[in-house]
Amino acid sequence: MTDFALQAAALREKLNQYAHEYYVLDAPSVPDAEYDRLFNELQALEAAHPELQSADSPTLRVGGKPLPQFAPVTHVVPMLSIRTETDVSEQGALAFDASVRKELALSESDPAVEYAAELKFDGLAINLRYENGVLVQAATRGDGASGEDVTQNIRTIGQIPLRLIPPFINPQGGKRGGLGGISASAGFPSVLEVRGEVYMRRDDFAALNERQLKAGEKTFVNPRNTAAGAVRQLDPNIAAQRPLSFYGYGLGEVAGWDAQPDTHAGILDALQQFGFPVCDIRAVVSGGAGLAEFHAKVAALRETLPFDIDGVVYKVNSLELQAELGFRTREPRWAVAHKYPAQEALTVVEAIDIQVGRTGSLTPVARLAPVFVGGVTVTNATLHNQDEIDRKDVRVGDTVVVRRAGDVIPEVVSVVLERRPTKDPTDLFSEPLNDRFDILAEYPVCPVCESKTVREPDEARVRCTGGLFCSAQRKEALKHFAGRRMMDIEGLGERYIDELVELDFVHNPADLYRLTLNDFLEMKRRADERDGTVPETVKAGQVTTKWAENLLAAIEASRQPPLARLIFALGIRHVGESTAKTLADYLGALDRIRQAPAALLRLLPDIGATGAVAIADFFAEAHNETVIDALLAAGVVPQGEHAPHPDLRERLNLAAVLAALDIPKLTLTRATQVCGGLERLSQLHEFTLGRLQDCGLPLDIAQSLQAWLAANPATLAQIDQLREQWLVLIPADSAAGRGVLSGKTLVLTGTLPTLSRDEAKALIEAAGGKVAGSVSKKTDFVVAGEAAGSKLDKASELGVQVLDEGALLAMLAK
Ligand code: NAD
Repeated sequence: MTDFALQAAALREKLNQYAHEYYVLDAPSVPDAEYDRLFNELQALEAAHPELQSADSPTLRVGGKPLPQFAPVTHVVPMLSIRTETDVSEQGALAFDASVRKELALSESDPAVEYAAELKFDGLAINLRYENGVLVQAATRGDGASGEDVTQNIRTIGQIPLRLIPPFINPQGGKRGGLGGISASAGFPSVLEVRGEVYMRRDDFAALNERQLKAGEKTFVNPRNTAAGAVRQLDPNIAAQRPLSFYGYGLGEVAGWDAQPDTHAGILDALQQFGFPVCDIRAVVSGGAGLAEFHAKVAALRETLPFDIDGVVYKVNSLELQAELGFRTREPRWAVAHKYPAQEALTVVEAIDIQVGRTGSLTPVARLAPVFVGGVTVTNATLHNQDEIDRKDVRVGDTVVVRRAGDVIPEVVSVVLERRPTKDPTDLFSEPLNDRFDILAEYPVCPVCESKTVREPDEARVRCTGGLFCSAQRKEALKHFAGRRMMDIEGLGERYIDELVELDFVHNPADLYRLTLNDFLEMKRRADERDGTVPETVKAGQVTTKWAENLLAAIEASRQPPLARLIFALGIRHVGESTAKTLADYLGALDRIRQAPAALLRLLPDIGATGAVAIADFFAEAHNETVIDALLAAGVVPQGEHAPHPDLRERLNLAAVLAALDIPKLTLTRATQVCGGLERLSQLHEFTLGRLQDCGLPLDIAQSLQAWLAANPATLAQIDQLREQWLVLIPADSAAGRGVLSGKTLVLTGTLPTLSRDEAKALIEAAGGKVAGSVSKKTDFVVAGEAAGSKLDKASELGVQVLDEGALLAMLAK
């Protein structure tokens, strides 16, 4: 074979494969632009070497073979292709006009040809056959000569009339009439085949994919193939669940239509009157310039359309001229599809990089070999997160379909698997060269700050744990830190934080406490310089300092935060205001919170497994530790530190702690069996398998526990030590630990000399007591002030001890 013959054979094989994937399987593996490029290449080759033309060449065929599962339908009027004009400039329009004029042998002095211009909808062609006004059959294009009977599925599309609206018969005028008073078949063509496109709107497509995701089903790649797949669904119930739409654009066989218009535009109007949706974006234009103008106008609209188009279609408007022009093998001479720049193209993933977002999430980005798509050269495309990478299985070295539509960020749509590089290109069954891309494995530490990265269960995103330290997260961390419900640094808002960070005055929260007046003034000066602004005061030779003094005072005032606020301010993932309060209330001291392992944190109220791990990870990250140490060194002192909460004694019982370690199979009940006579968890290391079974553990659980103990030789001793340290600190008399009034009920009556009702109540509650509204036998004390009334009488009646304010305060002071 000659080189040309080999080349043509290779192109044919590829095109046949792609056409099969596209038309028969509704699952193309390459973008349309790639198919068109190869198609044009083959066409050119065959034109230059007619001897290479083979009967099975894709350039001679329309569409794909019908599926045998559907009944075949022979098209009385073949459903042809349309020639594609891939010169996306106005030249494409002018060239078509020139070719029409040439075929019609028009000279320059002859008038312009009139064209009907419309959109090229990106869907699936359908032939709808109406006999006497009633839909009797719907068929796909198939190979153009015969298609598939998909009537059942098409009937589920609400927009397609099952019965035509009768033509106008009202003698008084008006455009069209209803069914009133005439038989349903009156005035209809005996046969009317309407051709049009079944497509899926973009919003319907997005909603469908959202439903699929929620249901854990696979998502669809694009609206075109989803629509085509739905129409060729074997189960009409499934087809009915796919939201499809329809536009009519032409005719097939027609018989007995007396008033048939003689232009294409006239036919579209008539279709609309019969009840078909016909797209309003259509025009009758004059000559090549008119076509080019339409092409440009629609280009500007393209992104705002609610559905995808891949070009516009020009058709010679006069049906008489159409007949004169006739057909080539697979396409009419009187029509052309004028394309737009492709929104999808093929390129190669050269690397997968990571960007760290403001909140610490690691976003994978595909670095691409530069490719022209959607009108620009694209070199990056987001891969969103690990779930997306897994779904598409994008690997370094892969050839991928990249999509860029409008101003939307470019996206990797799919991988062309057959082009995946392998370890041995000469071996068909060789392993892929690169493994699946796993963000956590590739980036165990943050590429920005080298803190550990984590991916929580059920989370699509991998995150950096260096919240306070990571420069990518600096601004967000500082904004949170300074917030009203956190450190409450008044006046230190977004603008100042942005400037402090951008001009390098502050890297982490601790730096705030080292700022001086000069720093602020210098920051302002540099910010003005950077922005090219000269404030009025500077023009007048003054330096305003009040704002900076106020900020410094606000920073100073924040040095002594309540412990819970400081914890909240650190911006630990999953630690909101209430979790911060729980940590402060239960552990009582920053040091204890910093040391607590996840297993112990989990035992605190309302802290779940994920939250506990996030807290422990945060403090385990050395970078965060450094920043907290720096905060303390800068004079930030948490207020109200106290002994651990008395409830911890019960919460930290050995069985609960053991169960919180997530040892496989070891439930709380099993842990309770094992911990029976134990004083410390580390004693378990001495237990033989037999002894564990003696405690009542089934063999498999005993083995699982032993395996865990062997794999974690130091964990229990560490936990024992911490637990014991904490327990020792809880006052022996736990009532005293809770406050002198713990468990006591008090009633307030009359006006106290110095305390208001609210103040007295707060003091009593802080000491663990309860304030009730009325005196009963359960009342422990009545606190009486001036003008005490019936409650005092009741107290003496029941023999309840009465205190005055002084006695109450003395009791609280104990
Ligand atoms: P075509 O380009 O020959 O155009 C004819 C089709 O256009 C009709 O069947 C109809 O469905 C549609 N159409 C939309 N709006 C229309 C309008 N207003 N008037 C008339 N027809 C209108 O279509 P084709 O032969 O189905 O296929 C060619 C297209 O399919 C190309 O864009 C090609 O890139 C794509 N394709 C892609 C692959 C792939 O692997 N990605 C494979 C095969 C074909």
